[in-house]
This record gives sequence, structure tokens and C-alpha cells, in this order.
Amino acid sequence: MIYFIILILVIFLLIHFSSAKTGGGKVKSPQGSYTKLLKEEVVFYQNLNNTEKINFEKRVRDFLEETKIEGIGTEITELDRVLIASSAIIPVFGFAGWKYKNLSNVIMYPNTFDKEFQFEGNNNRSIMGMVGSGYMNGQMLLSRAALYHGFSKSSGNENVAIHEFVHLLDKSDGNIDGIPENLKAHQYAIPWLKMMQQEMNKIEKGKSDINPYALTNEAEFLAVVSEYFFSRPEKFKDNHPELYEQLSLIFDINLIE
Ligand SMILES: [Zn+2]
Repeated sequence: MIYFIILILVIFLLIHFSSAKTGGGKVKSPQGSYTKLLKEEVVFYQNLNNTEKINFEKRVRDFLEETKIEGIGTEITELDRVLIASSAIIPVFGFAGWKYKNLSNVIMYPNTFDKEFQFEGNNNRSIMGMVGSGYMNGQMLLSRAALYHGFSKSSGNENVAIHEFVHLLDKSDGNIDGIPENLKAHQYAIPWLKMMQQEMNKIEKGKSDINPYALTNEAEFLAVVSEYFFSRPEKFKDNHPELYEQLSLIFDINLIE
């Protein structure tokens, strides 16, 4: 009798175990942990309403499914993935369904990387992040230290990863020239160029709080002011109301309700 009871018990447990495995017991998806990390680490996400949050999470997941992220001399963590995807989605959040067609993978270095890859100029910026061209087309290089710094409280007006994704967005019309495609057909392109020149003059004279790296050329100007715009929108609006309006048009987004 006792064997019979044990047998029934074993059969019951087997059935229960296998149904749990095939039914509700799916392999834990990373979805939950992405949401947790977004809540904890990404201020842009924290400021969205509930519907936008769900949309942002979906776009982060889609980006990570479509983009290969590799570490050089380091293991890629869940936080790396979430911060890279957030940097990609933040500048294009205003464009529903936007995909980076000119990106296949992101290569991450633990700290700054070697200057053997020099194609965006030999400067500090290019050892924190860069967008590949030529044989490196479709690749983005990023330093983890710079990525994390951009999302930290001490980041100031800077976010290297957003900077690089703005270059990619700018490049999507074929030229990295500081004028994203969606503006070209508009009547806004000329005022935008004029505004850039005016602000560059101020930076030159030391009368602006925008990083002087923006003086490099129009493309760097766009990338540098975009970092500031997305990282500290209130401060940017207070100090540069006209630029704020223009960037809101360029990125089709209203960061301050
Ligand atoms: Zn740049």
C-alpha cells in the first residue's frame, strides 16, 4: 500500500513539474530586470508617463534584439545593455518606429579605448565613444566608464552615448553635417544654421556654458547641444530658450510638460 501511495505521489509530482515547465514556468525573461534598471538608472524614463514608459521599454527590447552588443576584455552586463539601448532610444523617442539602419553592433571597452581607431579626430571624445566609418561602418565604439558617467548624477550636461547616437541619427540622411534629415525639407534648416553660428560665436567668446567641443564643426555642435538638451532639459531651456525650441522641433519631443 505504502508503495502505491508513493507511486501516486511521484506521478503527481511529475505531472505538476512538467506542466509548470511547459505552462507558466517560462524561462525568466529579462523584461522585468530591464524595467527595474530603467526605473533606477534612467532619469529620462523616470519622467515619462505610464503609456510612454511602456512604449520606451518596448523600444529598448526591440533595439537589443536587433543590435549585437559585444565587450572587449569585459563581460556585458544587463546594466550595460539597458544604458546603451536607452542612449539609442532617447534621441529618437519622438519618432515612432525609428530604426537605426546604419548600426549593426556596439563594441564596449571597459574604459577608454586605444587611439588606433581614429576617424573622428584625435581627441578626448573619440576615446570615449565613436561612430565607425569605412571598414568600421555600422559599428559604434563606447567606453563603459563614459557610458555610466553620462547617466550618473555628476554627469553635468554630458552624455557620450547619446552624443554618438545623435551622430548616427544625423548620418541617416547620408551626411554627418549637423542637420538631421527630418529638418532638411523644412523651413527650419536655415534658422537652425544661423542659430548654430550665433551660439558658436558666444562659445568662442566664453559667453556660453556649452562645451567648447561644439566648435569643432556643425555635426559636433548638434551632438554636444543634444547631450545637454536630453540630460538637463530645464537648465538648457533656461539658458538657451531658442536652441531649446529648435531642438524640440528637431527631435519632435516635448521634454518639459
Ligand atoms: Zn562627436
